[in-house]
Amino acid sequence: MLHQIIKQAIRNNNRLLSKYKSQPLLIDNIKPSTKVDLLNTRLLTELVSRINTRIKQDLIPKLKLYESYYSNKVMDSSVLLDLDYVDDIKSVINTITLDYSGITFNQIVESVVKQFAENSQKDITAALTKEINRLVGIDISPFIQSHTDDIKQTLEYCKDYIVSIPQKYLADVQSTVLLNIQKGMRSSSIIKELANQYGITLNRAKVIARDQTSKLNLALTTAQAKDIGSDEFKFSTSQDERVRSTHRAADGKLCKVGDSVYNLRYDVMCRCVLIIVVHFD
Ligand SMILES: [Zn+2]
Repeated sequence: MLHQIIKQAIRNNNRLLSKYKSQPLLIDNIKPSTKVDLLNTRLLTELVSRINTRIKQDLIPKLKLYESYYSNKVMDSSVLLDLDYVDDIKSVINTITLDYSGITFNQIVESVVKQFAENSQKDITAALTKEINRLVGIDISPFIQSHTDDIKQTLEYCKDYIVSIPQKYLADVQSTVLLNIQKGMRSSSIIKELANQYGITLNRAKVIARDQTSKLNLALTTAQAKDIGSDEFKFSTSQDERVRSTHRAADGKLCKVGDSVYNLRYDVMCRCVLIIVVHFD
């Protein structure tokens, strides 16, 4: 339907008609806005920060409490298995892990993913509407459909990535704590390492947020293009020195869903854009 509406708008305008008789319509600028990037990033960094608060509240006091038992003595890793205070420390980490892996946490992840989808859908709809308006002078916003089904798979992957954040974080916390206890470190240096791990996890969460926003954008752009009657795209890089050489080589090339050029967009943190190419003949 969108294809017909745009086609009609072109037919009604002589200048547009003569232009798009000989060349396809190129719909550009469909990329995640900085605002959406920030919104989605905040959802994940807040999650990491809440886990860090639990570590500070529940774990660190225990590390301090038992410090005299472990600091300044090196132990064999097998000894660690028999110590009650080590069990106590492990059970604290285990409780936090359970809080970030059960049904309640799954519901939190579901709602975060839903937010991601809503933010991205709003974003791409706005970008597309603006671009069509600029190109052919009509407002297509009443005709834009939601694409919940087309992004299902992408949202599943997104969910898996989000679930992996506390899992990996808390597994790393556990191994850091146990290794340092075994080495007879002071609690202050374990706390420093935990702060460092918090920083690493925050960065990981930011990368996941950006990358998943980009993947959602790809899925939505592809679904939206289908509505407009197009399955053809022009690959476009951000033209800076950070662009991968393989992506630079694809700049300006035409592609279709699933071909090798299109699939470059699945590379982690790809910032390239697919320009929608629409033919009217
Ligand atoms: Zn790229």
